[in-house]
Amino acid sequence: MEVKKVAVLGAGLMGHGIAQVSAQVAKYEVNLRDMKQEFIDSGMGMIKGSLQRFVSKGTLSEKEMNETLGRIHPTLDLKKAVADADLIIEAIPENIELKKSVWREVDRYAKETATFTSNTSSISITEMASATSRPEKFCGMHFFNPPQLMNLIEIVRGAKTSDGTVKIVAEAAKKMGKETVLCKKDSPGFIVNRVLIPALNEAIFLVHEGIATPEDIDKAIKLGLNWPMGPITLLDYLGLDTTLSITEVLQKDFGDKYRACPLLRQMVRAGLLGRKTGKGFYNWEKK
Ligand code: NAD
Repeated sequence: MEVKKVAVLGAGLMGHGIAQVSAQVAKYEVNLRDMKQEFIDSGMGMIKGSLQRFVSKGTLSEKEMNETLGRIHPTLDLKKAVADADLIIEAIPENIELKKSVWREVDRYAKETATFTSNTSSISITEMASATSRPEKFCGMHFFNPPQLMNLIEIVRGAKTSDGTVKIVAEAAKKMGKETVLCKKDSPGFIVNRVLIPALNEAIFLVHEGIATPEDIDKAIKLGLNWPMGPITLLDYLGLDTTLSITEVLQKDFGDKYRACPLLRQMVRAGLLGRKTGKGFYNWEKK
């Protein structure tokens, strides 16, 4: 089944970027759905800003920018968004009950041949798929932030995902210009976060135990491991609340090996969430 039209649910941080890549690189027609006009406007504003940056850098022409925008069709209507879509990519907030209720509704309106995917970072693909009547057509399609620049998509099999579904998603990802890896089982954190989150948590323990400063930890990992960004800075970008919730999901399934550092909890309680609140390990207000 060839994908021609994509529906992206959620025009937030990830959804707007996924819609943009789908229209700009894969040249798919895209229905972009959110709950309120202001969220649609903000998502479309971010897409325009990003396309404009590609134009300024000379990697996209003015004409291509307008054609890309012409392929994105914003809507508030879920039925309209999914009814003619071949591939549905859900990027709504990380809340299991919310996601399941949206998938129940999508299941009612989507074409029989449609492929269902979720961009979740940590929620079980199998559990979401079970809210639909077609779990074999459901799989994880995990983009990285920002989707316009990050080259990887993790494809995640649910317990009932068919080989055909994996193939359709892999082909769509390729058309979007992305590399893919297959997570063969629906397992918390998939591949990247299962490795990354304990590493970040360990970096927080180094601060907590007074072993090194955040600056020196970042310097050590950048120069010693060739990471492009140090772990403490990365934590401030990711958001400490997001990091804590992924850690908790991992701990629930894998045990205390994934126990969050007490300093991470304290900082989340204090509202020191990183860049988005102006302060985390570093002070971003003055930057
Ligand atoms: P976000 O809060 O920026 O955006 C979510 C958007 O969904 C909001 O605009 C909200 O209004 C909208 N929404 C809520 N209910 C909706 C519905 N029923 N239909 C359509 N839209 C609805 O969140 P985000 O950071 O873009 O995260 C979205 C998903 O992507 C989550 O599952 C998250 O785990 C995952 N993810 C996030 C990142 C990241 O770095 N932020 C990376 C990879 C995956």
